[in-house]
Amino acid sequence: MARFEVPEGWTAQGYRFALDPTPTQLRELASHAGAARFAHNHMLALVKAVMDQRAAERTYGVPEAELTPVVGWSLPALRKVWNQRKAWCAPWWGENSKEAYNTGLDGLARGLDAWSKSRTGERKGRVVGFPRFKSARAPRSVRFTTGAIRIEADRRHVTLPRLGAVRTHESTRKLARRIEAASARILSATVRQDSAGRWYCALQVIVEAKTRPAHARRSSHPVVGVDVGVKADSLLVVATPDGMEVDRTAAPKSLSAAQARLRALQRRAARQHGRYDPIAKVKQSPSKRWRRTQDRIGRTHAHVAAVRRDVLHKATTVLAQQHDVVVVETLNAAGMRAKGGARKRGLNRALADAALAEVRRMLGYKTRWSGSQLVEADRFYPSSKLCTACGRRKSNLTLADRIFACDGCGMRIDRDLGAAINLARLGVPTPVGEQSPAGSGPVAGRGATHETDPAPAGDAAGDETSTPHHQTVDQTRTASPQGEAA
Ligand SMILES: [Zn+2]
Repeated sequence: MARFEVPEGWTAQGYRFALDPTPTQLRELASHAGAARFAHNHMLALVKAVMDQRAAERTYGVPEAELTPVVGWSLPALRKVWNQRKAWCAPWWGENSKEAYNTGLDGLARGLDAWSKSRTGERKGRVVGFPRFKSARAPRSVRFTTGAIRIEADRRHVTLPRLGAVRTHESTRKLARRIEAASARILSATVRQDSAGRWYCALQVIVEAKTRPAHARRSSHPVVGVDVGVKADSLLVVATPDGMEVDRTAAPKSLSAAQARLRALQRRAARQHGRYDPIAKVKQSPSKRWRRTQDRIGRTHAHVAAVRRDVLHKATTVLAQQHDVVVVETLNAAGMRAKGGARKRGLNRALADAALAEVRRMLGYKTRWSGSQLVEADRFYPSSKLCTACGRRKSNLTLADRIFACDGCGMRIDRDLGAAINLARLGVPTPVGEQSPAGSGPVAGRGATHETDPAPAGDAAGDETSTPHHQTVDQTRTASPQGEAA
């Protein structure tokens, strides 16, 4: 398998653009995604049939050497067999780019590989099941790795093989500038439809690693802690270990407005004739009005996410550029979901977790670019429960308490600010020989992991994500069509 080595000083990065395809292009996109699914399912059926056949032959005592030959599970092997069969099993194959079939075969090769490695214990983590047939409802995607993939000079079109120039919803100027300056190169394009029905093009790009711009002065506070919240007036609170509030990022008005609209739409949907009748406790077919409201909810959700992402991008860029050490809380997303997650702990907490995950991901690669350091506090570190003055721990603090009032020394402080200060203290190295008061107080380094190589995932609308240097990018295989882990 030809692997592509990211050159020294370059870094892999993703750019994602929402698309506004023409009706013809929409049909072509659907056709390509359908072709990927067909190739996947057809070859999966063949692989299964051969496995069953061999198992049956064995029970009849057919010698190993005379069993029906296996179908190779690697992408090249699957592709070879597919090419022999496509003329009769898919006589229409010429209507789509060969990349469409490749997408499906690649997903299958990965699925089979994961399954066999999981079975032999070579693959760690959760047990992976045998690949399943893809239903028509599965997310639709196609990846293009060869052919004409470029962004047009007008900065409003992405050109893809077969589909031609597809209009982008937003300007592509950020990437266009880098390509024109020869500091970026497109490796591949993945076109994917989200659950709201919108098509996106994610370009995998290598870019010359950014360095901290000369004008970005370092602030006089080398170490800061960042508390991530959901309150409109304090999405992010930044503080120093000695208790100074450096910054407080408020939500823009458009975010609060969109969130209010979202709540109103959800109330409306609840009054309409939906998929489920709560009185009779049966499923039912929803009304047109309910569907229309759901469409609007989907679009508003996407808008809220985009606005929030924009705010967080701006804030995290400043944080990474101005400070040497940035401390954030970490969370164990898998563990939280296992315990009932959002439903049990309230919507606000779920939103805060999502925001925190996003902030951590952004800070992960931005601190690397800026040569600063991201420190993650253990999720059990009680950053919001410790008194910043005496270190006493308060146990009866509820999420609704916006002010932290210490029972020991009487200190009163804004809860988010207190949390940020306690986090910042984790970023300060402890002088040798110094003891902290027993059973109290933040101890630098305790419960903190110094992040060196975060694993960024996902995307940002027209914005950047990054993967570490020296990492190999697989050029010939397709990324799994499943959505990003946020
Ligand atoms: Zn106190």
